[in-house]
Amino acid sequence: MTTRVIQGDFYTATGPTTVELHPQALICIDDQGMIERIVEQSATDYAQVVQHAQQADRLLKAADGQVILPGFVDLHVHAPQWPNAGLALDLPLEDWLQHYTFPLEAKYCDPAFASQVYPTLVKELLNNGTTTVLFFGTIHNQDNLILAQECLKQGLRSLIGRVAMDNPDQTPEYYRDHSSQAALADTEAFIRELTDLGRGEPLAPTPVITPRFVPSCTDETLAGLGQLARHYDLPIQSHLSESKWEHQYAIERFGKHDAEVLDQFGLLTDKAVMAHATQLTAADQQLVRDRSTALAHCPISNVYFGSGIMPVKTLLHDQIKVGLGTDISGGYSPSLYDNLRQAVMSSQIRQDGVGPESAGVDDSRISMKTAFYLATVGGGRSLHLPIGEIKPGFQADLQIVQERFVEPTDDSSNRLERLLYQTHRADVKRVIVNGVIVK
Ligand SMILES: [Zn+2]
Repeated sequence: MTTRVIQGDFYTATGPTTVELHPQALICIDDQGMIERIVEQSATDYAQVVQHAQQADRLLKAADGQVILPGFVDLHVHAPQWPNAGLALDLPLEDWLQHYTFPLEAKYCDPAFASQVYPTLVKELLNNGTTTVLFFGTIHNQDNLILAQECLKQGLRSLIGRVAMDNPDQTPEYYRDHSSQAALADTEAFIRELTDLGRGEPLAPTPVITPRFVPSCTDETLAGLGQLARHYDLPIQSHLSESKWEHQYAIERFGKHDAEVLDQFGLLTDKAVMAHATQLTAADQQLVRDRSTALAHCPISNVYFGSGIMPVKTLLHDQIKVGLGTDISGGYSPSLYDNLRQAVMSSQIRQDGVGPESAGVDDSRISMKTAFYLATVGGGRSLHLPIGEIKPGFQADLQIVQERFVEPTDDSSNRLERLLYQTHRADVKRVIVNGVIVK
């Protein structure tokens, strides 16, 4: 049964370089929050559907100069790092972790701190047009559950991982799992607790197996997490070959590349989303492709810490799933709009190089359409969820955006490009998740 109809111009990506505009279409949403039908202006019953919706007070019409887009999917957010967003980004990764990130994450042993931080984070993500987020939490189950409750309360679709990190060589004494058994037992407890919390909720958060990254975990923990992922059939998230240091670390400890290590422990699966992947060799890429693992491109963060730029165009050409992430707080911005723009800019740098001694890589440049695809369709496919597209059978996760500059001579392609370059938080006027208006 149709419970809401949204009327307006909408854009939806149909492939990595193709986007469709549907002018003044009707998006009909059922009582489960799914898009049940798209009624184009040319449909014979268009006027009738509008009239029925109006009479039942179920019509939401985008105002003049507003455009409807799919809600964005953020594949990489460290929820506890939100208070540090925009701090210490001039430090090397190791110093940033030891002096800023670990001390902050440790503060979440106090649930009051989580209760103070998470409402503003969830609100900020929604206000920027993001409707689904794949979160890293902390090692503290209680605060991860506070994050889950806040997502439910504000209507953000979420997947949440309890971070596992027990390697004494790579984690501080004050913030680590004190044994592999503890890391695995707490992870399993979190899976149960989160499942209980979400029971019966339309936006029930999904638990995610979350080794922080290979260096943070002992072999026993990596192996145990792989078994838990298989046993509970859960998504996995971690970092993959983010920096030269991480890439080299795996070689020194295991005599193989990061991707091969994750694979050895059953952590490189079709349900895994691995962040960054700036240092992959051709063989690593082939392995990621063979395992159907998704990659989260975090272009702002990579400029600070990635030691490189992900070859997005090549990966998409090779049919590897790629989405976009803000990587709060390795990235300073909670906005995927900022990351769309940086994805395009970084691809230009990859193409052109950075100076006389650094040649660029041909055919690296991506368009804003591709960046839009990453933030919507790419994210949805990476998570195996029916999100990121406006079409029947998909969740009604949408944003309504005010155009800042309208140029009457723009064709539909230029109009979208201009919109994606110009949109800021204040221009995101409405956000709808699962058919419910949350902003
Ligand atoms: Zn990260």
